Amino acid sequence: MNIILLGPPGAGKGTQASYLVESRDMIQLSTGDMLREAKASGTEMGKMVADVMARGDLVTDEIVIGLIREKLRGETRGGFIFDGFPRTLAQADALGDLLTEQGEDLDAVIELRVDDETLVKRIVNRAEEARAAGLPVRADDNAESVKQRLMEYYKKTSPLIGYYHAKGLLKVVDGLGEIGEVQAAISTVLDG
Ligand code: AMP
Repeated sequence: MNIILLGPPGAGKGTQASYLVESRDMIQLSTGDMLREAKASGTEMGKMVADVMARGDLVTDEIVIGLIREKLRGETRGGFIFDGFPRTLAQADALGDLLTEQGEDLDAVIELRVDDETLVKRIVNRAEEARAAGLPVRADDNAESVKQRLMEYYKKTSPLIGYYHAKGLLKVVDGLGEIGEVQAAISTVLDG
């Protein structure tokens, strides 16, 4: 089974993806994680995207599609969870083509719905917890970048809701509950 977790920053996509990796042996493909790894290991591409990411803007479609293309050629195990990808209509079209090339399909697109106030609170908490634990704080987990990330989401990513609805793949899950409740709601959607 291959699924997309769709939702604004702070909606809980990463948390829910980790759970699906453990419970269903799925493979999490987070373009955000891949880009942060490239940045940390100091590759040319990592250097190129660092400022864009810190501002809260989207990196180019070409870069993220390239990252995903590579991963799809590897093992498939329990299927893929696309986390933070696609974020534009061009990425969504490219993903469709890549999956078709691999003889794969998309089974569901889960939209995690959370209001803006909660998103901002969650991201601020994430930064505070990291600081308290002596962990690195994401360069884009500050008020200004969060505002920009939300703007990018509404402008460029939210049209995907209509796109996948039209394809009959969209499932809306309330992302406001406790982590366990959201997990249960996702399981119901996937198994129903
Ligand atoms: P995330 O960890 O998913 O919140 O992503 C962090 C940042 O990486 C985003 O704010 C973008 O700058 C960049 N990024 C991650 N995924 C994508 C994508 N699919 N398209 C464009 N930029 C992305």
